[in-house]
Amino acid sequence: MATLEVPCRYCSQTKSVRKHGTGANKAQRYCCLNCRKSFQLDYTYNAYHPGVKEQIVDMVMNNAGLRDTARVLKVGFNTVLRTLKNSNRGK
Ligand SMILES: [Zn+2]
Repeated sequence: MATLEVPCRYCSQTKSVRKHGTGANKAQRYCCLNCRKSFQLDYTYNAYHPGVKEQIVDMVMNNAGLRDTARVLKVGFNTVLRTLKNSNRGK
């Protein structure tokens, strides 16, 4: 049996990651026993990928429009608004 070492998305530990059921579209979800967070390796929606939220804040801070950002990153307009509202730099 092949073992797949999955690093945790949040704390990057490999030993504490266990399988945790399946998400939408039957994608395998993983749970980290160290930081008690769950995640997937592959998401259908672009905004759930790691780093996209930071990219939204960066683009808007560099004078890209809100709708431009949503179009380029292929995320919803309300996702852009919510990300800025929840980030400290969007105030
Ligand atoms: Zn973890």
